[in-house]
Amino acid sequence: MSSSTDSLRLNARVDAMQPSATLAMKSRAEERRRQGHPVVALSAGEPDFDTPQPISDAGVRAIRNGFTHYTENTGILELREAICRKFDRDNGVSYSPEQIVCSNGAKQSLALAIHALCDAGDEVLVPAPYWVSYPEMARFSGAEPVVVPTRVENNYRLTPEALDDAITDKTRLLLLCTPSNPTGTVYPPAELEALAEVLRDHEQVFVLSDEIYEHVIYDAEHRAFASLPGMKERTITVNGFSKAYAMTGWRLGYLAAPAPIAGAAAKIQGQFTSAPCSITQKAGVAALEMDKAPVDEMVAAFRRRRDVVVDRLRAIDGVRCPTPEGAFYVYPDLSHFFGLEAPDGSTIADGDDLCFYLLEAHNVALVPGPAFGEPKGLRLSYASSMEDLETAMDRIETGLHALG
Ligand code: PMP
Ligand code: GLU
Repeated sequence: MSSSTDSLRLNARVDAMQPSATLAMKSRAEERRRQGHPVVALSAGEPDFDTPQPISDAGVRAIRNGFTHYTENTGILELREAICRKFDRDNGVSYSPEQIVCSNGAKQSLALAIHALCDAGDEVLVPAPYWVSYPEMARFSGAEPVVVPTRVENNYRLTPEALDDAITDKTRLLLLCTPSNPTGTVYPPAELEALAEVLRDHEQVFVLSDEIYEHVIYDAEHRAFASLPGMKERTITVNGFSKAYAMTGWRLGYLAAPAPIAGAAAKIQGQFTSAPCSITQKAGVAALEMDKAPVDEMVAAFRRRRDVVVDRLRAIDGVRCPTPEGAFYVYPDLSHFFGLEAPDGSTIADGDDLCFYLLEAHNVALVPGPAFGEPKGLRLSYASSMEDLETAMDRIETGLHALG
């Protein structure tokens, strides 16, 4: 029997939107756990560490001091000033507090930036593999996401030639993510400069630079796109607290942009959500000002886990796995296993099937490649305990060996 809601008309852009694959896999893994299956979830990109103590203490102090009211829409001045000092100190870029908008996570900052800039008829360049939400945010603004493939041989980095070929007179925005989710690749400064060189010939194109994994980096140098000559005026930098400070649940991110774009983002925020949580903002100030030892310890742990996961993946015949230099993801190419048969007689046609098989038959949750625009890969997050990672790797190895 059909219910009356089956034919309910929704906003056409919502209807056209794909649900977030990362969040969907997280829920699916949790649901299987509730059913009693011992799932190891390497699906969501979320540090398993507690938020460092000085940050939590600042949050508790904010509550105790009654700092529990609405704040200025773009965030308290104290936080925006601390963010400006961070840009100076870490990135060599100078912003004024009016150019900073603090939001409920970097996800919201990205959405604000895209909606502030893009319109129907605009094209948004999204190098693949991309983080799942970029094309959906672009499409929701009315713009057209244009996926630009990259190659595993080039560590999944966009080349200046591919960028130049993709730009049309409709191109409004280029999305960059370094260190990258889902591949962990980091653009060396010289390669960013080569991309900037292409953009210098195309004044209408802005860059949305997602630098949320800036501090989660190994043996590589992070360069802020806005710090490249002439690029600050055309760049919106997005960053946040979720990853480096293990603050996913606090919900705090920010953007830094030329004043008219920051003003437009603030206007949207003012009508949709207002400022982020007052308590979280005080915690954010503490995060930016604290001694960085807890961050270094987390990054050192991520590095040890990365090494184990990459070594174990590479030891499996047929797996191709570039070494990630940042973030906490690996994106192995598992296309060798597509077309093979599972022990129950079903065929593993693609990454979606492989992901489903690993979850249902071996209790490991990963995220399938199609959601990232590069169907040969699967994303594995190694922001989990070493014990869980070893168990997951045993299961993946067994699962892949069982295909024939
Ligand atoms: N950008 C990237 C590349 C991410 O991986 C995430 C993680 N969810 C975000 C933005 C958003 O982070 P948050 O909203 O938790 O600040
Ligand atoms: N950024 C994380 C991920 O990619 C968290 C999930 C999300 O916000 O989409 O898994």
